[in-house]
Amino acid sequence: MSISFQCPACQKQYRVDESLSGQQARCTWSAGRAQAPDIGISGMR
Ligand SMILES: [Zn+2]
Repeated sequence: MSISFQCPACQKQYRVDESLSGQQARCTWSAGRAQAPDIGISGMR
């Protein structure tokens, strides 16, 4: 399963693995940092 969100820098639709939920990921297109939305899987700890 993956998370879809929009990069704040280039407005591209961005997709990362759900394991990156709530973490910073690097945008493939603008090389900027985008934070993946927290989808609430952190309860697993
Ligand atoms: Zn971007």
